[in-house]
Amino acid sequence: MTAKILDGNALSAELRESLRQRAAELAAQGSKPGLAVILVGENPASQVYVRNKIKACEAVGVHSEKYEFPADTPPEKVLHKIAALNADPKIHGILVQLPLPPQFDEDEVLEAVSAEKDVDGFHAENVGLLAQGNPRFISCTPYGVMEMLSSEGISLRGMEAVIVGRSNIVGKPMALLLIGASATVTVCHSQTRDLAFHTRRADVLVAAVGKAKMITGDMVKPGAVVIDVGINRLPDGKLCGDVDFDSAKEVASLITPVPGGVGPMTITMLLANTIESADRAAGK
Ligand code: NDP
Repeated sequence: MTAKILDGNALSAELRESLRQRAAELAAQGSKPGLAVILVGENPASQVYVRNKIKACEAVGVHSEKYEFPADTPPEKVLHKIAALNADPKIHGILVQLPLPPQFDEDEVLEAVSAEKDVDGFHAENVGLLAQGNPRFISCTPYGVMEMLSSEGISLRGMEAVIVGRSNIVGKPMALLLIGASATVTVCHSQTRDLAFHTRRADVLVAAVGKAKMITGDMVKPGAVVIDVGINRLPDGKLCGDVDFDSAKEVASLITPVPGGVGPMTITMLLANTIESADRAAGK
């Protein structure tokens, strides 16, 4: 069997077109959606992510503002900017690009963002709402994965879903969403005994680890849906996922590539969250 490839670029383009229309409607009503992005330090990967997010905003008609601070900025200065953005009616989403330099307490910064503008879905209030099955903002990467599954008409009810990785930004919210969709969910991590035992049971396998090609074809159940969240850089400079694409695609029924899979969907869902937030603010 050779798996169908789930093209995140194509699905993103489709979704961004409908987001562009919704953003234009809101702008016509005087509520143009606005996103503020805060970047501290000179991490090159973060600079690329921020640039891509700003570019994506421009393409769908979302107003964006970028605030850059040097790496040695005292945390109070960034917290002060967040407070100003919380009060700014032009801004519906605030994103603090992680990681932050060591003098910052990341939790403190994430909690400083108004829960109503927390388009990354990292604020404790939004994590709690998601855990209760009543989400306000869903973190962008797991939200993008759910959109990909839904675009293929996959019914998750009763399915065995296995997630490899338990981070706050991917693994845990992914587990909550899959539970919400009535899958039977297993979450694996670095202390899991016999990882392959679990992955081989998965009807839906989500890899979010950060280790190049660690999930090989022999760890995949025949016919499984394989979602690769990982982004790893190989010594030759190329990007690859956590799944060994070449061997897994011979076993799976559906697989996401890296690049061009989950990555573009993450930015698309950031736009969706910003527009949903502007929509909510306009309705108040
Ligand atoms: P983290 O480093 O925060 O989490 C990695 C998780 O993998 C941890 O839970 C860790 O377990 C687990 N893990 C590590 N080694 C193993 C192992 N040998 N077997 C099983 N589990 C293991 O990473 P993130 O969740 O932030 O990101 C994961 C990957 O996804 C990265 O490559 C990242 O770049 C990518 N990513 C991609 C995005 C996209 O848009 N496509 C967005 C966000 C992330 P433990 O908890 O025990 O340490």
